[in-house]
Amino acid sequence: MRWRNSTEAVIPSRAGYPTAILTSLNRYKAMSNYHLMSDTPDNLDYGTVGQAVSTADAVARARSRVRAVPMATWTNWAGDQHCTPAEVVRPTSEAELARAVARATARGLEVRAVGSGHSFTDMVCTGGLLVDMSGLQRVVDINPGSGLVTVEAGIRLHQLGPRNAAHGLALENQGDIDAQTLAGALATATHGTGVRFGNLSTRVTAMRLVTASGEVVELTRETEPEALLAARVSLGALGIVSQVTLECVPLYTLMRHDRPLPLAEALDRLDEQADGHDHFEFFVWPYTRTALCRFSRRTDDAPRPTPRWRRELQERLVENHALSLICRSGRRFPSQVPRLNRVIAGAMSESHVQDHAYRVYATRRDVRFTETEYAIPREHARAALERSMDLVEQSRLPILFPFEVRFARSDDAFLSTAYETDTCYIAAHQYAGMDHQPFFRRFEEIMDSYGGRPHWGKRHSQTAATLRERYPQWDRFQAVRARLDPDAAFANDHIRRVLGPIGAP
Ligand SMILES: Cc1cc2nc3c(=O)[nH]c(=O)nc-3n(C[C@H](O)[C@H](O)[C@H](O)COP(=O)(O)OP(=O)(O)OC[C@H]3O[C@@H](n4cnc5c(N)ncnc54)[C@H](O)[C@@H]3O)c2cc1C
Repeated sequence: MRWRNSTEAVIPSRAGYPTAILTSLNRYKAMSNYHLMSDTPDNLDYGTVGQAVSTADAVARARSRVRAVPMATWTNWAGDQHCTPAEVVRPTSEAELARAVARATARGLEVRAVGSGHSFTDMVCTGGLLVDMSGLQRVVDINPGSGLVTVEAGIRLHQLGPRNAAHGLALENQGDIDAQTLAGALATATHGTGVRFGNLSTRVTAMRLVTASGEVVELTRETEPEALLAARVSLGALGIVSQVTLECVPLYTLMRHDRPLPLAEALDRLDEQADGHDHFEFFVWPYTRTALCRFSRRTDDAPRPTPRWRRELQERLVENHALSLICRSGRRFPSQVPRLNRVIAGAMSESHVQDHAYRVYATRRDVRFTETEYAIPREHARAALERSMDLVEQSRLPILFPFEVRFARSDDAFLSTAYETDTCYIAAHQYAGMDHQPFFRRFEEIMDSYGGRPHWGKRHSQTAATLRERYPQWDRFQAVRARLDPDAAFANDHIRRVLGPIGAP
């Protein structure tokens, strides 16, 4: 995610500010460049939370003298969604967050939060108040006995992993990057893979939410069960989440085995592979017949971390740099895409990793792309994938990225993409700067035929009218929304498209 003009725009004139504040702002600028600018690879170690927070405190002190932050342009990770909020705030406490929201809504501004900007849609975008959650990243409480971990909502998943591990705990499952904030990931039902595991939101036991008036509402399974079922996957449409309590599991090791297999074999044994492994997924490039299968097993065996230099070499040079070169060639010469994809498939090789799970789930993604992903009932996985491959190949579409196939168990959050459905996720991607629309549109038609539910953080063209029938608890979500955000303070154009107006059936 990228801020343009951020610090310069914040300070109308630097004259008169004590050196300490300017130094703090310069440090903030450096920090912003480090973890907000989009050229930063996803998996870098961003330093400790403590450092970030102490810098943030200084920034907050400076900003309390210069409250408005006009003209900052926000861009998402993929670089293809932009907006210019009227104001940006970066609260460092729940009380500060609540004050900022109340002030903005009193002035009639709509309010949106931004996590790490890794969504592919315009769901963050606003011309009102944008709340940057990077000042709220502390761990509030960790209870190794119960496994309950309470954190501020802006914590990033890569910060949470080592914090949990220090107390013998881990997230039950994770997706393929860990750059997201916890609240941002929950808002879109971010998931990993594994037929026995739910998405991240299934582990939430409580949340604290700042509503339009600045009131803080505590949602627990006991006190607000209905609202919690809505808030676990909320698209940010109920209020700003300030704190989350998660049920974590004992720290575990993951043994990951990547192995290219003939696509036909992967599909013939799809159920066996999905049921027979803790985590199973595969990637397949259009115009090829090789699936890169990823099998992961949970174990108590000791981690055997891959040396950092070897991981860097593999991920930075081989997986990302080589892929980037191929993608750039394909963008320049689209007719060569089938051949380039076959080069990629031919270069895939077997590999093993054994480490703490939080260091294994996440992979490095330096090459920019855009993405759509649909959740469909698991039984349609094979047919849906084969139709999607045919779509690309018969129309000779220049698609340089693979389909990715993953699984999750059903759950009960009202807007979870796996609501009451054992689910297969099929993701389709397109390299940045290449036209994705004809492909994604027709891919969506295939997914529509299975009643597919689009990933809330990835591109799709559904509206409230088409989504409502795919979510049996749609009306219950809307009732909670009408109660918590009656004036639609947390709606933007995206939310109006996919959720409709407040109070709508
Ligand atoms: C390279 C890459 C890999 C990905 N891999 C996966 C994957 O493996 N599995 C998967 O399911 N998805 C994946 N995604 C999608 C990603 O997990 C989601 O889009 C996620 O929502 C991004 O989190 P974020 O912190 O960047 O949130 P943002 O994109 O910043 O925000 C997402 C939504 O959450 C809202 N929000 C953020 N913070 C708050 C808050 N505190 N309170 C209320 N609302 C809030 C925002 O307003 C917005 O509506 C991937 C995306 C990328 C770019």
